[in-house]
Order: sequence, then structure tokens, then C-alpha cells
Amino acid sequence: MEISIQNLTKSFGEQVVLNNLNLELADIHSLAIIGPSGGGKSTLLRILAGLEIPQEGKITINSEPLNFDYKSLQSYRKGIGVVFQAFNLFPHLTALQNITLPLEKVHGLSLKEAGARASELLDRFQLGEHMHKRPHQLSGGQQQRVAIVRAIALQAKFMLLDEPTSALDPILTSEVLDSIKELKEEKKDLILVTHEMGFARNVADHLIFVDKGTIIEQGHPKELFENPQSEELKSFLGKTL
Ligand code: ADP
Ligand code: MG
Repeated sequence: MEISIQNLTKSFGEQVVLNNLNLELADIHSLAIIGPSGGGKSTLLRILAGLEIPQEGKITINSEPLNFDYKSLQSYRKGIGVVFQAFNLFPHLTALQNITLPLEKVHGLSLKEAGARASELLDRFQLGEHMHKRPHQLSGGQQQRVAIVRAIALQAKFMLLDEPTSALDPILTSEVLDSIKELKEEKKDLILVTHEMGFARNVADHLIFVDKGTIIEQGHPKELFENPQSEELKSFLGKTL
């Protein structure tokens, strides 16, 4: 995918959370965003998801400008898949219904079409036997995989994931990371905020380090991990590795 971000600035009240952030990338399939807590990673991702409106800045994704009026955002959001830290499944619906409902309501598929697409994907992600369970009957890893399947089912142009494993224990984390790897193998473009440094290194083809509302360093993951330039990244890696 191709991403252009120019002079992106976002404040909440007096607090400047993204400060004149710029990014130009072409031919990227998976972008990982790392950085200390409170640095603005989620805000950046939420803006890219059309869920937050910046005060200033221009964003173009795959040659299409992201317009921030209500109508444009509404249709933009239909075209992307979003997976957050908390699983965001509807608690009163089964795994299957969590996937079919948006396909029917937002994308206008018939129940039959939606069901066929959902059950095929649930099988592929080893969730077939759980499809009639509600979220509270599933493990955290299974819930997060349902959320990923839901995003894939929407046949999004690209996927945004915000620390999708941060609420999971190590075994469930590796389950979810495997599912994300599968997305990549399917050539789905993804932008991922993660604190899993090993994963960022193996899966991302570009890495940005965001701190204090701006990109301090960026490049190929191998480069950044092996040879960090800024004091900020050096100390961040020292803390997390
Ligand atoms: P990160 O994901 O890197 O931890 P965030 O983007 O979540 O950082 O947050 C950056 C800063 O913006 C934090 O100080 C946070 O408190 C603030 N912030 C985020 N969202 C809001 C909001 N909706 N209202 C007010 N402040 C917010
Ligand atoms: Mg965050």
C-alpha cells in the first residue's frame, strides 16, 4: 500500500498528541508502529481508521485522499478492517453472528451469503467448532481471532490492528500472532501497533517509532533494531528487549 501523511496534528484540549507528523511510504505491505505508552500510536491509528478527526494534516492512502467530513468517513470506514486491544465483540451474539451481522447490516449481504463467508473463514482460523458460542464462552485468544475473522470477512482493503495481543497471555498471544501472519500471507495490507518487538521485527516490512506525537525514527525493522540512532529509540529498546 501507499501512505502519505503530511503535517498531521491532533490535540485533545490543550494537549498536543500528534505534532506535525509526516510519513511517505510506497509499496509497503505491513507497517508496524512501536513506541512508549502515551506517545500517540493509538491516536494515529484511530485517525487512519476514520474514527478521529485531526486539527490539521493531509492523508492519502492508495492515492485516495482521506476526507474528514461525516459522509466520507462513513463510507471510508466500510472499506477497512479494524481490530482493537479489547475484543469488541457483541456479547449477546455468537461468534458466527458477530461476523454475519455487519456483513448483512453494513454490506447488504443476505443471511445465506454472510453465513457461508463467515463459516468458511471460521473454519480456516480453527474456530469452526466454536462458531455457536458467545464471547464469554471463548478464550481471549479465540475472541481476538473472531475479531480478526470479522475484519477479514468484510473484505477490507487493508487492516488496522491496535495492540491486538496486549490483553492476552503468551500462549494466546502466539495464537493471535499466527492469525496475523496468515493475513500477511494472504497479501492483506496491514498497519499494526504492537509491543511485540520480535513480531514487529519478523512481520513488518517497515517500522516507525512514535514518541511524543511524532516519528522519531523509521526504516526496515532489522535496521532499527540493530542500529537505533536516537536516544529515544535506544532507551526504548533497552527497556523492552
Ligand atoms: P499510545 O497508544 O501511544 O499509548 P494514545 O494515542 O492512546 O497513545 O494517547 C496519546 C495521548 O493522548 C495520551 O496522553 C492520552 O491520554 C491522550 N488521549 C488519547 N485519546 C484521548 C481522548 N479521546 N481524549 C483526551 N485525551 C486523549
Ligand atoms: Mg495505544
